[in-house]
Amino acid sequence: MKASQDIAKIQLTEEFRICPKCGYELGFHSSFQRDENGYRIILICPECGARYDVGWRM
Ligand SMILES: [Zn+2]
Repeated sequence: MKASQDIAKIQLTEEFRICPKCGYELGFHSSFQRDENGYRIILICPECGARYDVGWRM
């Protein structure tokens, strides 16, 4: 299975727990990706590998 290289932008509502791509519902792993202003926090679905950018920066 090919992990998606695309990072989907997600607009957070009350809770972001269920993967929109595969329906996995137990939450996400996180990773940190360097960008020009520091790091952005990327959420990764442990089931299908889909990656989501929820707009968090650090
Ligand atoms: Zn998934």
